[in-house]
Amino acid sequence: MKVMVVEDERDIRDILKNLLEEEGFQVVAFENGMNILEDIRVNQPDLLLLDQILPGKTGVEAVREVRGSEFFATLPIIMVTGLSGEDEKVNALDVGADDYVTKPFYPKELAARIKALARRSSFGQEGPGAASKDPKDRIVRENIVMDFSAHRVWVDEIEIALTLTEFKILSELLKQSGQVLTREKLRERALGNLNVTDRTIDVHMASLRKKLGEVGNRIETVRGVGYRYADRQG
Ligand code: CA
Repeated sequence: MKVMVVEDERDIRDILKNLLEEEGFQVVAFENGMNILEDIRVNQPDLLLLDQILPGKTGVEAVREVRGSEFFATLPIIMVTGLSGEDEKVNALDVGADDYVTKPFYPKELAARIKALARRSSFGQEGPGAASKDPKDRIVRENIVMDFSAHRVWVDEIEIALTLTEFKILSELLKQSGQVLTREKLRERALGNLNVTDRTIDVHMASLRKKLGEVGNRIETVRGVGYRYADRQG
C-alpha cells in the first residue's frame, strides 16, 4: 500500500516517511501540493496524507482539487492539522477529507487510522487495477482487461457488464486473437453446448459487440466459418 505525504516541514516529512515505512507502507513525499493531481497521477498512491497548512496551495484547496477531479475523486485523504481547534477539524471533513489527525500525532495511531481508512475505502477497486495480478487469471489486450477468476472486464478503464456467455465468448476470442474462432469451438468452449443454433450464437455476439462499443468493431465475422478478434489498426 502506497501513501503519498504532502508536508512542507522537512523534519515532519522525514518523520512521517520513516514511521510509515516502519509500519510497512510504501511512501512518496512532497513538500507542497502545487501539482497535486499530476503527482497523484504519476505515483498512483492508495491514500493521501496531507498537511493543512502548506505554502502556495493550502491543504483545503488541494483536497478540493482532488475531490473535483475525474479519476481521483474518491482517493482516501487524511488531513494533518497543526491546530487542535474543533473548527479546523470540521473544516477538514467538510471540504472532503475522510479523516484528520492533529499534530503532534502518535505513530501507532496514525498507522491505525491509515489502515482503517484504506479498509473501508473502495478506491482502486472499481478500475482494472482491481483485476487479478496473476497472469493466469487475466488477459490484457490493448485497452481491454479481463479477469477470469472474478469474471470482470474493463475497456478503457470502464467496467463492462457482460453475461457469463458473453464473457466466455470474448475470452475465447482474445485468447486466440488474429485467428478464426469457429462456430464449433464457440459452441464447445463458450456456450458449453454443441446443440445451440447459429442463430443463438449470433444473438450473443450481437449483444457482446454492442456492449463493447468501439472494441466490438474489432470482432470480425468470417462468413461461413466463425469470428475473429483483430487488433486495432495502427
Ligand atoms: Ca505545514
